[in-house]
Amino acid sequence: MAKRTKKVGSAGRFQARYGVRARTRVRNVEIQQKAKHICPSCGHKRVKRAGTSIWQCKKCGIKFAGGAYIPKTEVGLNVEKILRGEVVPEPIMKEKVEGEKAEESGEEP
Ligand SMILES: [Zn+2]
Repeated sequence: MAKRTKKVGSAGRFQARYGVRARTRVRNVEIQQKAKHICPSCGHKRVKRAGTSIWQCKKCGIKFAGGAYIPKTEVGLNVEKILRGEVVPEPIMKEKVEGEKAEESGEEP
């Protein structure tokens, strides 16, 4: 069967409404939202979106929170790095340095 919506994809349901830009953006999001992703637990490509920010693996059944439309967002990865202690966010670092200096100067006299 000939593919009906080669260019517009899932946004074809809007027909000619809402403008090209809005429809293209919807399409680009929905491609990732509806795709199967790689499972962080078992490694199979069977993770599907179960709800907003909720992702579930159809192979091993693991359910986890992630991005609203992709399992892992760039911001989320940065937060994970901070939690692992690989990256120290700048504002916290400044507070630490200032706090240490204040403690040192308080102990000296
Ligand atoms: Zn899995």
